[in-house]
Amino acid sequence: MSHKKSKLLLLSLPLLLSSCAQHNQDITNAQHSVASETQEELYILPGLDHGLVQSPINIYSFKERESNHHKITFHFQDEIKAIENLGHTVQLDFAQGSTINYEDLTYSFKQMHFHTPSEHLIDGVTYPMEMHIVTNVPPKNSTEKPRYLVIGVLFKMGQTNKFLDEFINLIPKKVHSVAPLNPGSVKLHDLFPDDEETNVENFYHYRGSLTTAPYTEAVEWFVLKHIIEASPEQIKKISAIEGNNARHIQGVFGRSID
Ligand SMILES: [Zn+2]
Repeated sequence: MSHKKSKLLLLSLPLLLSSCAQHNQDITNAQHSVASETQEELYILPGLDHGLVQSPINIYSFKERESNHHKITFHFQDEIKAIENLGHTVQLDFAQGSTINYEDLTYSFKQMHFHTPSEHLIDGVTYPMEMHIVTNVPPKNSTEKPRYLVIGVLFKMGQTNKFLDEFINLIPKKVHSVAPLNPGSVKLHDLFPDDEETNVENFYHYRGSLTTAPYTEAVEWFVLKHIIEASPEQIKKISAIEGNNARHIQGVFGRSID
C-alpha cells in the first residue's frame, strides 16, 4: 500500500453520525428461506434486486491493492445524545451536525450500533464484535435513492476499552427503550488512537450494501484495518443483549477492495 500523504483524512474531531442501516428485520428468517447452488450465492434473498454488491464480505489483508485516491474528511462534532436497546442491537444516536465529505458528497452521521460477532471477516477470521458508524446523504425526493457511508470497526478480546466504558453501563435494560446521554460524556474519538488525523489508507474500502433489510446496494464501506481491543466482559455485555446479529458473508464477485 503506498503512502500518498495527500490522501488524507483529516478528522477534526468531534464526530457524529446518524442513520445507519436499518436494523429491524429478521435476517435469519430471510437467510434460511434461501436455497442456492454455490457457496457464493448462498443467502441471496428472494425478491432482492441483487447487483452482486452485497455486504458483509471477507477481506484479504495481504492482497496487493491499488493505491486509492479517495479523499475523505471527517468533521466530528462529538455529540452522541442517546443510547438505545433495540433488542437486536445496541445503538448510539448522534445529534445533528457531524459530517464526512467523500467524493464531493457530504454524509451526515446518524447512529452507530454493534454486531456480535463481527460481520466482516479478515482473512477468514471472525472477530467477537463489530461496530458500524452509519452516515448517509438523505434523498432529496422520493425517487432519489439514499446513499450511505459506513465505517466498520472490529474488536478483539484484550484491554478494557475506554470508549465502550463511557456508556456500557447506561444501556437501557428494557428492550426498545432509549436513555439520554449527558452531552460530551461519550466521545467517539476516544475509540481512535490517532484522533486528530486519520489517513484513508488505514481503512479497507469497497462498495457494498446495508447488512440488514432492505440491503440497499448504495454503501461506501470503510473498514478500519486496526483491530480495536475491548475486554471480554464488555463484549459479553453487548452480546448478551443482541445475541447473534451478524449477517453471513456475501460473495465478492470481482469487486475491488482498496
Ligand atoms: Zn450494522
